[in-house]
Amino acid sequence: MRSPQSSSADYPPDILAWLLLKFSGWLLPKPENNSPFVWRPSLEWRGFSALLKSENHPAAKLEFRIAWPPQGKSFATCGDVGVNYEVAGDLDDRWRAVLESEAQHIIRKLSVLQERLPLITAELFPGLADGLVRWSESPLPVGLSQESGDEKDVMIKLNDLACGLQCAFCTRSRHPDHVSLPGLHLIDQLYRAALSLGRPGPATDFLRIGVDEPTRHPYLTSFIALGAHLGYRRISLQTVATGLKSPQDATALVRAGLSDVQMPLYGLSAEIHDRVVNCTGHFKHITAMMDAFLQAGARVTLHSVPTIINHADISALPRWCESKGIEFHGFFFPRQEGPSRLPIGDIMPRLSDLHPEVRTRLDLFIPCLNIGTKDSPVDGRGGVKEVVSESGNASKASFDCFFASTCNSCTKRSLCTGVYKGYLELYGENEFVPIKQS
Ligand code: SF4
Repeated sequence: MRSPQSSSADYPPDILAWLLLKFSGWLLPKPENNSPFVWRPSLEWRGFSALLKSENHPAAKLEFRIAWPPQGKSFATCGDVGVNYEVAGDLDDRWRAVLESEAQHIIRKLSVLQERLPLITAELFPGLADGLVRWSESPLPVGLSQESGDEKDVMIKLNDLACGLQCAFCTRSRHPDHVSLPGLHLIDQLYRAALSLGRPGPATDFLRIGVDEPTRHPYLTSFIALGAHLGYRRISLQTVATGLKSPQDATALVRAGLSDVQMPLYGLSAEIHDRVVNCTGHFKHITAMMDAFLQAGARVTLHSVPTIINHADISALPRWCESKGIEFHGFFFPRQEGPSRLPIGDIMPRLSDLHPEVRTRLDLFIPCLNIGTKDSPVDGRGGVKEVVSESGNASKASFDCFFASTCNSCTKRSLCTGVYKGYLELYGENEFVPIKQS
């Protein structure tokens, strides 16, 4: 099989679109019954579509998507592929019936194409059946993008795999078991990463893999192996480890090329941590996985979120990390990102109540309250190029910060980050006392 070519578009290419374009002559023959129509296949922003036209008059459009959203939008589904069918309003009933039957015929053909998918997959991803792609033997032109590693870190975002926890402050905590990864979508994520992930550049060789829970992704080891194959020397995983069953799973990831692991811990006892994540036994599990990563030779970095439930307990977290050879990254103040298991107003602590150890390591910088340092700005995730995911940065607005009315007279105003949205409504402005002299 000839290797598919990467598209020059700004988004990662899609394996379904490539397959359909390659087989479009067979999939979309000229409609029968002396039809004046012809199919015009094209690649689009999120997939593949075929426009049925006579002269310049569009009559119908078929759109093919992997895992079409389940709101009943699909005209039909075939395995992992959803098909949407739109007919021009001015088409008469005679042609409407013919075209509908053509569309049904095309959908039946799609099932034949899907039956061949295991063969195609085996060639594009040799070794996948063993759980680890042998990238050096793959016909995919891996790492086509030239620009990704030059100035920015790169991140593979694996959405659609909820972590299984219910952290009190997290918007995804209301859907802890949501998984929407049909088989073709899994292959598509590997394919798009292989084609769109650039080789590391002179300024950075740091690849992050995260969002939702990557250890629940069946091909995580292959993503890590791809990064190592391309030459990334630091490959980092953001995880709560719910997809790891044993210390051997952690060791296997490090053997594939994983070098760094970023994990959260919300308490120093099972009682506190498990209460924040609403999952009995998670404290025991995640601390065991930390030990396994450390023993396998990975660098482990920890962060936490102070809430009304845990803020006293986690003040000892930096020292606990030090004793275990773990790097402590910092505390992230809870933000208004949307509805969470517990309303944010019930868990957001008052800044003045935080232990000094938590204050100094918070992701805000508020000089009048001895919060943070000028090197701990709000984490806006700037400077990272994202590949694979299309859902992107939906929550950027939650990093917006606000100031008390008296802040305008403060000499530190230009350095200060202020507080996240909702804080002033909850606790008022009295805490903030403008600093008069530098
Ligand atoms: S008074 Fe306002 S501007 Fe000054 S440090 Fe405090 S929050 Fe920041």
